[in-house]
Amino acid sequence: MLNGERFGVSTSKVVCVGRNYLEHIKELDNPMPTEPVLFIKPSTALVDLQDDIIVDGRNCHFETELALLVGQTTQRVSVDNALQTIAGVGLALDLTLRDVQQRLKQQGLPWERAKAFDNSCPISPFVPIEQIDDLAALHFELHINDKLQQQGHCRDMMLNCAQLVSEISKSFTLLPGDIVLTGTPKGVGPLLPAMELKLTLAPWLNESTKVVKS
Ligand code: ZN
Repeated sequence: MLNGERFGVSTSKVVCVGRNYLEHIKELDNPMPTEPVLFIKPSTALVDLQDDIIVDGRNCHFETELALLVGQTTQRVSVDNALQTIAGVGLALDLTLRDVQQRLKQQGLPWERAKAFDNSCPISPFVPIEQIDDLAALHFELHINDKLQQQGHCRDMMLNCAQLVSEISKSFTLLPGDIVLTGTPKGVGPLLPAMELKLTLAPWLNESTKVVKS
């Protein structure tokens, strides 16, 4: 397992895609994107997924996402070559202050206050890519208090991992240690104190965290 240092190089950024699963677009009543909605979380958003998640009473939603660890400097990579730049696969929560995001969206303003705040990106260890036969076959789940809440299949992504990395690298040079979040499937909802979250990427990852009130 690749540890939190992510090869001893620090993560410069986390690049995220806003709408990559059809069913999630429908649940938030968002329009279909004509091009991928990309946004960035700074390195200060990263926190270990096993740490407690501290909520402060605001409407903070969980979004469970497959995370890709970038292994090499990547700029304008073709779809065909994009997977070679991925060093590992993990899971992340894209924590989102939903009310703040709705207000910013309505006003046509950037999303950083809703998406890029401190500790808004709990992240798991990464499974080395060599251990994964077929990225397209990956399947992940979120259970809350032992009940299935979200499940994602890579095959349901509108942009698959290679297409997404290629698209991102047209605008943002990805550096070793950078992380790409691939979007959330449906089933997002608010974090509430005392919730126990279990994120699984079978058979490799089984991570647990709990929600506490600040
Ligand atoms: Zn997300």
